[in-house]
Amino acid sequence: MIEFDKQRLTETLAELVSIPSINPDLNPGAEGERQIAEFIAGRLRETPGIDVELQDAGNGRPNVIATVGSGSGRTLMLNGHIDTVGVAGMAAPFDPVVEDGRLYGRGSSDMKGADAVMMLLLEEIARAGDFPGRIVATFVVDEEYASIGTQAVCRDIGRWKPDAALVLEGTRLDVSIAHKGFVWATITTRGHAAHGSRYQKGIDAIAHMGRVIVELEALSKELVQRPKHRYVGPPSLHASLIRGGQELSSYPEECVLEIERRTVPGESDDQVHAEFQEILDRLAGEDPQFTATLEMGLVREPFEIAEDAEIVQIVRDQAAELLGHTPELTGGMGWMDSALLSGAGVPTAIFGPAGEGAHALEEWSDLDILHQFATVLAATSYAFCSDSR
Ligand SMILES: [Zn+2]
Repeated sequence: MIEFDKQRLTETLAELVSIPSINPDLNPGAEGERQIAEFIAGRLRETPGIDVELQDAGNGRPNVIATVGSGSGRTLMLNGHIDTVGVAGMAAPFDPVVEDGRLYGRGSSDMKGADAVMMLLLEEIARAGDFPGRIVATFVVDEEYASIGTQAVCRDIGRWKPDAALVLEGTRLDVSIAHKGFVWATITTRGHAAHGSRYQKGIDAIAHMGRVIVELEALSKELVQRPKHRYVGPPSLHASLIRGGQELSSYPEECVLEIERRTVPGESDDQVHAEFQEILDRLAGEDPQFTATLEMGLVREPFEIAEDAEIVQIVRDQAAELLGHTPELTGGMGWMDSALLSGAGVPTAIFGPAGEGAHALEEWSDLDILHQFATVLAATSYAFCSDSR
């Protein structure tokens, strides 16, 4: 059984936190993803038996893919992102501080703690030798914006053929088996521009959008009344951005509304499209002057894996043995890279350590729990990969 050196784990996490790796799409000009990728790759290359490569995820942004083990058993893919959100308002985001069993700093919880665990796990497995299967650890860029990192991994999934994957986002040592997806859409109402005095000629696109908004609000109330998904609750809908009109003394020619619909497992973007289109068709049927178009935008699929899936069972069994209690099955509200891996045909679950303040002004990782997480992850790796079914 692998023993993790707690001091080394803490030091590794501190080193990762001290390298700023803000997502460049959230903070233009940020270049830390490359710096942290090179740090991770350089450190892993020091241990014989770990294969390390940098994969261009797009625009030169590097994923680190590190592989260990050449046994005849199965392949487990691990996934952790190396980018963080921004740091506006934080006093010293990149000066890690350890206090009361916590390590503070941007990214400590989301999710450099898990990244540090992946690094130590690869090193320990390589040192131990004779691993029964293979671990493919993916340290990916851009989870906090458009997930081009995990998308690049999924494009090449045939190279690694993982039998299962674990996304190591924080779950407080529970196992998350579902999360919501989302769909963005743009609705545009078209009126007729005219001088404000020419009421016979003008058609008010903003007033027409008002009808759309009333309908969308009714739909949003209906959505949250629908049967709740056991782990993620009901679907929902909200307006996000609106603009319209040209000037005060004119009938507005156009109004544009952007909306977001959160989806639950089992729902599709086609269904969302049909719900929106039905509203616009009905309003057009009621008033020949009403003209509106619908354009669907980014779609991120919801995610779900069966409660009795093997990877879920193995994590729970190993955790029960090592921690003395069986992890709960949970669901997450936000979208994660798990949906992409699952969409690429890899049975995927989410299992990770505990902390607070992802995206907030104060962020920390619980170091005791991080150590427990490492122990369970190692046991899970051996248990899953030793089976060659
Ligand atoms: Zn995250």
